[in-house]
Amino acid sequence: MTEAPDISVEKTTSSKLASTNLKDIPFGSAFTDHMLEADYEDGEWKNVGIRPYQALQLDPSLAALHYGQAIFEGIKAYRTTDGEAIFRPYDNFRRFNQSAARMNMPAVPEEIFIAGMRQLIAIDRNWIPDGEDHSLYIRPVMFATDEVLGVRPSNKYKFLIILSPTGPYYVNPMRIAVEETYTRAAPGGAGFSKNAGNYGGSMLAATRAKQEGFDQVLWTDAFEHRWLQEVGMMNVFFIIDGVAITPSLEEGTILEGVTRDSVIRGLGEMGVRTEERRISIDEVVEAHAAGRISEVFGTGTAAVIAPIRELYYKGRSMEFDPSGYTVSAAVKQWLNEIRSGEREDRFNWMVKV
Ligand SMILES: *Cc1c(COP(=O)(O)O)cnc(C)c1O
Repeated sequence: MTEAPDISVEKTTSSKLASTNLKDIPFGSAFTDHMLEADYEDGEWKNVGIRPYQALQLDPSLAALHYGQAIFEGIKAYRTTDGEAIFRPYDNFRRFNQSAARMNMPAVPEEIFIAGMRQLIAIDRNWIPDGEDHSLYIRPVMFATDEVLGVRPSNKYKFLIILSPTGPYYVNPMRIAVEETYTRAAPGGAGFSKNAGNYGGSMLAATRAKQEGFDQVLWTDAFEHRWLQEVGMMNVFFIIDGVAITPSLEEGTILEGVTRDSVIRGLGEMGVRTEERRISIDEVVEAHAAGRISEVFGTGTAAVIAPIRELYYKGRSMEFDPSGYTVSAAVKQWLNEIRSGEREDRFNWMVKV
């Protein structure tokens, strides 16, 4: 690619690569040598640069810390049969700016988000692990940087991209409690945006569920705690009578997962019908009792597909058998083949570094 001319590059003089073992690194625990940084000030993005990964110096009055204007993304880059490529970064780019709009933050232009990301990855390309299920996790983040305590949208923002080599994110089939006390998202809220506060607000429910022996919660609607939303921070799918069902997006309470969309496309390719619609816990209870549910799973960039083996609701456990999850296993395989370059990329999802 041609380098965006206004991105300055300062390379590290002491690479950590030789002393980092790229095999089986726990998710999000190691970072590459460089990061991208840009500042929004006086209505424009400036100081766009790639520099050695380093700590930031932040004023204690930093607006993001107090009032929570902070959003992020999660994307993966892979080694393919012919070089390195990023999976669907334009979808994350669009979603990032939707999150920004909801949080009253400025949009980040494509020349910084996409071109900057590609240039950063090109510089740190030797950090992309090549084992099976290994990838480079890409984390763009933007936060408010005004240094005043007055409550208003910040005038200044910082945008960063950091990179983290990551191994397989193996999740044991999950035991999930249906959440009836806490709420993650309500109509008119910010549930569809990837803002930091959504994560902060979800942690207590997850911690409580863990104390009860579960791995995560299945979020339900704010009014009746009946309509299903997401599982933890992943989208959720049920296969009932051979049809894949996932909650629809129109209420604005569901994060529009790129993996969710990819799985829907993959299922379509495999001849599995998908319905995006409202689904209630009552429907799941009934279908389970009738033996009509063959698979339940979550989807997200980090784990890709996370099988669910139990749903706990009102004192009762519904058990499922992940060893028989053939459809989700097949769609995961289909995605892996596109990502590695073994399968034709008909949707043009892979963007070359
Ligand atoms: C990021 C996220 C997802 C998954 O989105 P992907 O694009 O598939 O990674 C699902 N739900 C929530 C709440 C999220 O924040």
